[in-house]
Amino acid sequence: MDVSSLSIERKPTRQITVGDVAIGGDAPVSVQSMTITKTADVEGTLQQIYALAAAGADIVRCTCNEVEAAEGLAQIVPRSPVPIVADIHHQYKMALAAMEAGVHGLRLNPGNIRRPEHIKAVAAEARDRGVPIRIGVNAGSLDPSLYEKYGGATPEAMVESAQRELAYFDEVGFELIKISVKASSVPLMVEAYRQLSEVTDHPLHLGVTEAGPPPAGLVKATAGIATLLLEGIGDTIRYSLTADPVEEARAGRQLLEALGLRERKNVDLIACPSCGRAEIDVIEVANRAMEAFGERQLPLQVAVMGCVVNGPGEARDADLGIAAGNKRGHLFVKGQNVAVVPESEMVDQLVEWAEFINEHGIEAALERVDLEKARREAEKDRARLLADQGDDANHAVERIVEIRRTTRA
Ligand code: SF4
Repeated sequence: MDVSSLSIERKPTRQITVGDVAIGGDAPVSVQSMTITKTADVEGTLQQIYALAAAGADIVRCTCNEVEAAEGLAQIVPRSPVPIVADIHHQYKMALAAMEAGVHGLRLNPGNIRRPEHIKAVAAEARDRGVPIRIGVNAGSLDPSLYEKYGGATPEAMVESAQRELAYFDEVGFELIKISVKASSVPLMVEAYRQLSEVTDHPLHLGVTEAGPPPAGLVKATAGIATLLLEGIGDTIRYSLTADPVEEARAGRQLLEALGLRERKNVDLIACPSCGRAEIDVIEVANRAMEAFGERQLPLQVAVMGCVVNGPGEARDADLGIAAGNKRGHLFVKGQNVAVVPESEMVDQLVEWAEFINEHGIEAALERVDLEKARREAEKDRARLLADQGDDANHAVERIVEIRRTTRA
């Protein structure tokens, strides 16, 4: 099977645009995040928006909970590198103020703004201004009448909440809509989105709300979002983590890259789990490499492997990699040894080679050195390690003998 032909078939949805970012239809799945500053703090909020954009956010949401926040948005929007969505909860007038501030989109929670005349007033204004709205249903803040009707926050109750809001929007002829039905329970949100995607072709915004701090929050959010994306459901995503929001944006981008839904922008660092053969502290070197690559835009797969015995072979598909042997780092490009460097220079060399490959390509990197010489040099360390460690680097046989000896005694 040609693995490059494996791709996710996305469910067709209508397309809207939030600022210059298209959502739905054939647009790439986008990443969203939210600032945690006071929106009235214009400089602090802008600083966070820039950090989020650098980490992979295509759209950023800011709360608009008071007049000062709306005034802040009027200054933030023109200076933001990405479209800004205003998050509105209880006061419909804040939605009107945010539109006056020039935001590119709104998020309304149907559980919090319930008077039809208020909802329609916002939708009519959004229609006239061409501002899209997300209907953001949240299992934790459903309209009480729906809790009562369904006996709790069920997938059906969440879908009906979205449909009620859609009906109000229909009445004023407003169509620039995307919808979310988030819950902190992964099975609940997955089922709610599945049901919603059966009854609407509006683009869907995916998220597991209040997922919590990483790593558990990352696992929960990924479980829910990835499950749906693999089924072709979802047009834009947000990780809701109890962490620096930069982590949300980074995770969102990384998930889309891992699923092949967005082109790789940053390094994809792979590393072996380490074992008895490891000649270095793989975790430490991988973390240092991760830090050194940071947000550098190098769309390459880079491997950090603990030993030269198996490393270059196991990571032969990586664009570039390094494996440790005999206190030296063996650099390899597409599985071919290209250089042997002192252990202390492993990470710096990895970055230097990655930048070279990114600029000049794999072929040029392979032509840069005497491959035969590099291979011979690497082979010496590999042979030495095999001679020292044999085939049983984890000393399993020795351990088994010892277990048998002590249990028989
Ligand atoms: S054999 Fe080498 S490359 Fe494989 S896990 Fe062990 S140290 Fe890492």
